[in-house]
Amino acid sequence: MRAEIIAVGTELLLGQIVNTNAQYLSRGLAELGIDVYYQTVVGDNKERIIQAIEIGRGRADLLVFTGGLGPTMDDLTRDALAEYLKRGVELHEPTMDKITAMFAGRGGSFVESNRRQALLVEGAAPLRNDTGLAVGNALSEDGTHYLLLPGPPREMKPMFANDGTAWLKSLLGEADTLHSAMLKFAGIGESGLEDLLIDLIREQQDPTIAPYAAEGEVTIRVSTKAATAEEAARKLEPTLTEIRSRTPRHLYAEEDIPIEAAVIRLLASQRRTVTLAESCTGGMVASMLTTVPGSADAFLGGVVSYSNLVKHRALDVPASLLEGDNAPGAVSSETAVAMAEGARKLADADFALSITGVAGPASSEGKPVGLVFVGLAERDKETRVVQLQLSGDRQGIRIRASKRALYMLWLALTGRGE
Ligand code: ATP
Repeated sequence: MRAEIIAVGTELLLGQIVNTNAQYLSRGLAELGIDVYYQTVVGDNKERIIQAIEIGRGRADLLVFTGGLGPTMDDLTRDALAEYLKRGVELHEPTMDKITAMFAGRGGSFVESNRRQALLVEGAAPLRNDTGLAVGNALSEDGTHYLLLPGPPREMKPMFANDGTAWLKSLLGEADTLHSAMLKFAGIGESGLEDLLIDLIREQQDPTIAPYAAEGEVTIRVSTKAATAEEAARKLEPTLTEIRSRTPRHLYAEEDIPIEAAVIRLLASQRRTVTLAESCTGGMVASMLTTVPGSADAFLGGVVSYSNLVKHRALDVPASLLEGDNAPGAVSSETAVAMAEGARKLADADFALSITGVAGPASSEGKPVGLVFVGLAERDKETRVVQLQLSGDRQGIRIRASKRALYMLWLALTGRGE
């Protein structure tokens, strides 16, 4: 099935808001195995919306609209489609009851224009709106399918994910459903990972292999179309097995979770603990770890030792490492080791990670932007340290350094050592 997304709203054309709905819908449609060939943006103007429908019908089987279902006179999507299809509009009673009840509850007087949010193109199936008032519309005519969703993302997303997706699946029939496995990798960039899998990626047909990179993590989605989950699993398994065998030191999860969640799980299952000593990341690793629910048993706390004074006083980093003409300095492997050991002792943790580096934009201690040392202290083991040269802007370097530190701990916890 080929789809076109038609986002309706003059604010979009004026550049006042970003068309995030189109991005969300493109992803969601791709996950259902529906190809999106065009995204259109059209203002709140009935003639032009009708033109967009006419053009869209010529090149897609499914037109997905967002916006223009609200109460005001510039909310025209439903009216435009009704006019184009030469249909009337009809009242959706349950939505009308909801609107009336809401106004009664608020003690406000009912404004007639609100009735518009309960209107359906004649013959359309209603789509529930759990987070707002305007009812969604789904209908088919002459081989073209129309899905009308509200503009506000907090209304559009749940409507698409619930009733919208159910309707689309009923159109597709089971046989067309796309099934995907998500693989998450750390400690390797997108191009490095592609090198390891290049022949698989080049020769892919079914399943398809699609890599996506985010700061410090890479995701690979392996997808196939199948009638049932069992059939999909059978089709996906040989490719997954091959990828697993080539990436044992990088594949940290087979579900869409960040590396910090994988680390917390491992720490919890091994009943081990970690502390942190962060310099250039300023608490970012602590923030990532505490975002994971249930991190409290594994993560004991950390020190944001941004200055030499705090490195020395809170973590016992010897002043001789930090200052003086021949000292290695704050950004050095010696200091990373001392920071990690100091942090581990602070709470007698099983592990401690330390991060010290130059996030930029200016160099520091005569050391280049992107130079980062990550230390890992482990009870009864020699402290390890890695030197990284990271690229990107200040924020990018900080995120990558944080993810890299978590990766180092993941390697230690899984016994895959760096
Ligand atoms: P309402 O009941 O709020 O009028 P509506 O369905 O008529 O809803 P619009 O009036 O087109 O939708 O847009 C309402 C708001 O939703 C916009 O001001 C904007 O904040 C957001 N919005 C609309 N379209 C998009 C889009 N394509 N991407 C992101 N946000 C959007």
